[in-house]
Amino acid sequence: MKRHSIQTYRRIIQIGVAVTFIILPLLNQLGFTFIWGNFLNIHIGPLNLTDPLAVLQITLKNQYFPPRLLMSTGIILIIAMCFGTIFCSWICPFGLLSELAHGLAKRILPDTFKKLNFQNSGFKIKIYILASGLLFLFLFCTTPVINQLSMPSWYSQIFQYLFIQKHISFAVLFVAAILFAEFISRNRLWCRYICPQSFLLVIAKLLNPFHLKVVYRKEKCISNKNNNPCQKACSLGLDPKTLNNLLETECNNCGDCVVACKKLGNALNFQFRHFL
Ligand code: SF4
Ligand code: SF4
Repeated sequence: MKRHSIQTYRRIIQIGVAVTFIILPLLNQLGFTFIWGNFLNIHIGPLNLTDPLAVLQITLKNQYFPPRLLMSTGIILIIAMCFGTIFCSWICPFGLLSELAHGLAKRILPDTFKKLNFQNSGFKIKIYILASGLLFLFLFCTTPVINQLSMPSWYSQIFQYLFIQKHISFAVLFVAAILFAEFISRNRLWCRYICPQSFLLVIAKLLNPFHLKVVYRKEKCISNKNNNPCQKACSLGLDPKTLNNLLETECNNCGDCVVACKKLGNALNFQFRHFL
């Protein structure tokens, strides 16, 4: 029997989540209330999950941390502490769209559209964006303003606006423009350099030195400079062989490089750091 790769399972879950958030507003209107909400705050039966970035802003602005939020956001952070930023690679619908745009660009754009070579660490840029957002929040706002840059949140709200309030949100244009820019540049610009949504997940991951990560075993590697399937497989443009601490902040444990490597020397694998 054919064994499916982690890529297959990942894609099924990504698509499942993306479709769920399309039909959820319709189901809610028909009386289904077991799951309701969006990527800012979702209720699944008795479980309530709240976006950590929104909680951070509410807490800092009001200088008060409602205990009920500890549970609702803590679950998300604990998962990131153990498994890294798998929210980005397995759950986020914008991540799925961004991956698809990137894959399409790789297939159909001519070679003249060479991939732009962005050298800077995306994480450093995100620090500036988050700091600016927090400053703006303190000076001018009372609501979690940084979430205006939350693509998963916009994705889910687009369908809430469409099916519940019966109008098309301008966010559609915003999302489409970003995807087009990523397509043309052949680079996952938003996820690597801008999205503040993943910032706290990265921090949570870094707080746990034993989190799940991609490990490279040089002695098993049989590729050469001209044949680097793991690097080619990474839609974020990372080189899994040289994931230092800074670049590792950007790896979302999607496993595409691990799958590509399995066909060769099996030099890349997921491991919890503890076992190294
Ligand atoms: S970086 Fe942001 S937009 Fe990209 S996959 Fe992660 S949460 Fe989604
Ligand atoms: S380095 Fe590997 S696991 Fe990390 S994002 Fe790139 S392909 Fe995915």
